[in-house]
Amino acid sequence: MAVDIVCGKEISEDTRYKLSFEGEWLYFCSEECMKEFVENPVEYLYANVGCGCGGNCGCGGHHSHY
Ligand SMILES: [Zn+2]
Repeated sequence: MAVDIVCGKEISEDTRYKLSFEGEWLYFCSEECMKEFVENPVEYLYANVGCGCGGNCGCGGHHSHY
């Protein structure tokens, strides 16, 4: 199982909507989600990374914490 990082849906890794980004495969549920990612990869790649606090500071994992 993979997760569509645009909409958060769980999808099969044999989806035809996938792309290789910086050496990692990213999977999408639909062409719309894939396009959405391609247009704004940074927003999606880092939206869920968190600030490095592990969720302990109450920031909600938002990357603009610092
Ligand atoms: Zn999606």
